[in-house]
Amino acid sequence: MTNILDGVKLSKQIKQEIKEEVAQYVEKGHRPPHLSAVLVGENGASVTYVDNKIKDCHAVGFKSSLVKLEGTITEEELLQEIKKLNEDETLDGFIVQLPLPDHIDQEKIIMAIKPNKDVDGFHPENFGKMALEMESFLPATPFGIMVMLERYQIPTQGKNVVVIGRSRIVGRPMSILMSRKGNPGDSTVILTHSRTKNLEEYTRKADIVITALGVPHFLKADMIKEGAVVVDVGITRVEDPSKERGFYLAGDVDYPEVSQKASWITPVPGGVGPMTRAMLLKNTMLAYTRKFSLDS
Ligand code: NAD
Repeated sequence: MTNILDGVKLSKQIKQEIKEEVAQYVEKGHRPPHLSAVLVGENGASVTYVDNKIKDCHAVGFKSSLVKLEGTITEEELLQEIKKLNEDETLDGFIVQLPLPDHIDQEKIIMAIKPNKDVDGFHPENFGKMALEMESFLPATPFGIMVMLERYQIPTQGKNVVVIGRSRIVGRPMSILMSRKGNPGDSTVILTHSRTKNLEEYTRKADIVITALGVPHFLKADMIKEGAVVVDVGITRVEDPSKERGFYLAGDVDYPEVSQKASWITPVPGGVGPMTRAMLLKNTMLAYTRKFSLDS
């Protein structure tokens, strides 16, 4: 029988836990945590993502602020804005919504964010600390998957894990986290990508398959073994005139057939996505609790 790794239910629970923790701090006389989001330009998907992040902040009692900048802003001006946020003592963390317009060097911007405010976990200092098993902000999507595996008590020690996709925000950090010591972790990890040959030879031997490639319905039932755990990160808009919005959201997994064979599976939507959103709040809470303590 297949069980669902329910990201909607679990993220609600986590947000409730964060809300209660915030209330305890506020009761002690501390200010609430404060997250800021920088939005450059009018990219439709980015506007929605940032709106959701602000909504999530309000739902748990965080203060939030939006820094809305013109798409024509120069790289130098954006760096100045980041400097201001880095120096703002009332701010615990901030994110710069990606992608940025083509004339701005994304790497330069990420490098300019002060690592102790980088709640997206994209700065190389945080990435390096993650790889070295030191405390750091973890990128939200892999972090959400780790929390999901932990809360659902999915055994990972000594398991064979195949990650499909090696992006810096999902696949690669995911492979590092699963190979780290601890629970979840302690897995034997194979990181696969577009140049991998005979991918199904790896996935068929895997106890856990994590797909993060962005190719709808890519993973078929004959590519996994009976009882595998399947985590689907993919979200692709597939045109569909029969839908009111004109599209539907597809995962990387052929859900109807794979769910017949897997022991646990994440749906799309409702799996990894809501967990990703909750983890930004968790990282902001971590930034905050590094400054404040319930005992003081
Ligand atoms: P990306 O485009 O940066 O990376 C895709 C990776 O997949 C690459 O490393 C590439 O080598 C690999 N790949 C492509 N085709 C392949 C193939 N045929 N076989 C094996 N590997 C292949 O993507 P990303 O940013 O990591 O995102 C991946 C997917 O996850 C997208 O659908 C994205 O929308 C989604 N996503 C979801 C969340 C969430 O919260 N659920 C968060 C981030 C990304």
